[in-house]
Amino acid sequence: MSQRSKLPGITLSDRVLFRRRLLRWYDRHKRDLPWRGSRDPYHIWLSEIMLQQTRVAAVVEYYQRFLRRFPTIHALAAARASSVLAAWSGLGYYRRARMLHATAREIVCENAAEFPRTSRDLRALPGIGRYTAAAVASIAFGEVTAVVDGNVERVLQRVQGRKIATRELWETASTLVSPGRSGDFNQALMELGATVCLPRQPQCAKCPVSTMCASRGELPTTKQPRRKKRDIYYGLSCQNDSVFLQQRPRDVSLMPGMWELPEAAPGNGNGSCLTLRHSITVTDYTVRVSRQPPPLHGPGRWVPRAQITRLPLTGLARKILRATKVVCKQFSQSNL
Ligand code: SF4
Repeated sequence: MSQRSKLPGITLSDRVLFRRRLLRWYDRHKRDLPWRGSRDPYHIWLSEIMLQQTRVAAVVEYYQRFLRRFPTIHALAAARASSVLAAWSGLGYYRRARMLHATAREIVCENAAEFPRTSRDLRALPGIGRYTAAAVASIAFGEVTAVVDGNVERVLQRVQGRKIATRELWETASTLVSPGRSGDFNQALMELGATVCLPRQPQCAKCPVSTMCASRGELPTTKQPRRKKRDIYYGLSCQNDSVFLQQRPRDVSLMPGMWELPEAAPGNGNGSCLTLRHSITVTDYTVRVSRQPPPLHGPGRWVPRAQITRLPLTGLARKILRATKVVCKQFSQSNL
């Protein structure tokens, strides 16, 4: 899984091979969807907006019905908002329908029904982001521009065998996109993610680019270690403006030689005078502090309050002494 990408630096021959294999697979195996094959930017734009946050199977029927109701961008622009929302009813995320309608009106009124032909001009329209602009520009007008959606992201990360930040994903997709068939290439990469390189259990045996893929499977997830919970008890002993503190042994691995309050048995002392939370590495402690006399045995000494700031205290001891106002709030690590 941790092999290096088979597209190191993505050389020219790597790109050519990747495109050729992907497009050949797409030509043979693409799903028969009603917007496929259309070069009408209105159709492509409509399908892209409907496909946002909605499964392909749910979109097909709505897409066909919507186009029967509003076959052209003129028909959509001339419609009442209530009619558009009615045709959208059941697809959810109605803001998409309102934006679609508003944008159709803008294209018809401001642009004489001429669809912008570049991703840059498309992005200037309301409700059209980077992905939609690139999808429409590449599929309808053949602009050589890449798209990145969730499917593309998953495929490219697995092919490269590592997590990739958004900016690099767009750069990688732009490097790979086919100059001659950009629209098909973009749809092919998304189709691969949607039907073969599935989020769980990718079908690598059916994958046209498996020999170029560094993962050939899911990327290993970096699991967060399970956090543990523990209760811990400390005794706070004060007398004559001094506090009883103990020094940790110098041969322990955790905070050797630092000073802290003595640990106490649960239920000892005059009730809990303070409860606080404290986390160290993977353990979340509930810390209960009670006022009680110093332990009869073991190390430790009375430390005058004025000298406490000169001792190397543990973070937790500092927190407790601040919370109980034994030392003042401004007392920080820099005082040590
Ligand atoms: S080989 Fe497997 S993991 Fe790699 S791109 Fe193909 S389906 Fe995805």
